[in-house]
Amino acid sequence: MEEKQLDIHIDFKRGSKFPCPQCGNFECDVHDTIDRTWRHLNFFQFKTYLHCRVPRTNCESCGVKVIKVPWARKGSGFSLLMDSLIILMAQHMPVKSVADLIGEHDTRIWRVLEYYVSKARSEEDFSEVKSVGVDETSRAKGHNYISVFVDLDKSKVIYVCEGKDANTIESFRDDLEDHNGLSPHSAF
Ligand SMILES: [Zn+2]
Repeated sequence: MEEKQLDIHIDFKRGSKFPCPQCGNFECDVHDTIDRTWRHLNFFQFKTYLHCRVPRTNCESCGVKVIKVPWARKGSGFSLLMDSLIILMAQHMPVKSVADLIGEHDTRIWRVLEYYVSKARSEEDFSEVKSVGVDETSRAKGHNYISVFVDLDKSKVIYVCEGKDANTIESFRDDLEDHNGLSPHSAF
């Protein structure tokens, strides 16, 4: 109550078996455990944390591996639901404001965004892109230009990079190619 914090402890029964996170096939014995903590969605006004001793399985073929927990992605200090709240908020306000609102350092927020944005970008498919508009804007007053490329049919930003010279067109072209975006008949 004093710390305005809710701690939820997750545990497993002695003698439990877990599937190997690598091959998934066996019911493996627990080798040992690692104590982990995740920030979860607030419970009313309380910051909420999940704590768990995460089992490491001892698989006959793969050796000792940490199991995959269903409530968080690998290496993250947030639960998946917290990740999704962060992404939702970041679409409407600066990252620093998100950080202040939930009481975390903004570098932790940036790490979440970088993970999901680069994942989403790597899965982008630009094979349907037919007309592209490009515009430049300055990041600071008068210098540090960035170029923004837009799919004109979908009104969707598909590429952003620094600069506004021929190199930016080159780098856009490469990115488009990497995402199935350049047909043999295109005008590049
Ligand atoms: Zn295995």
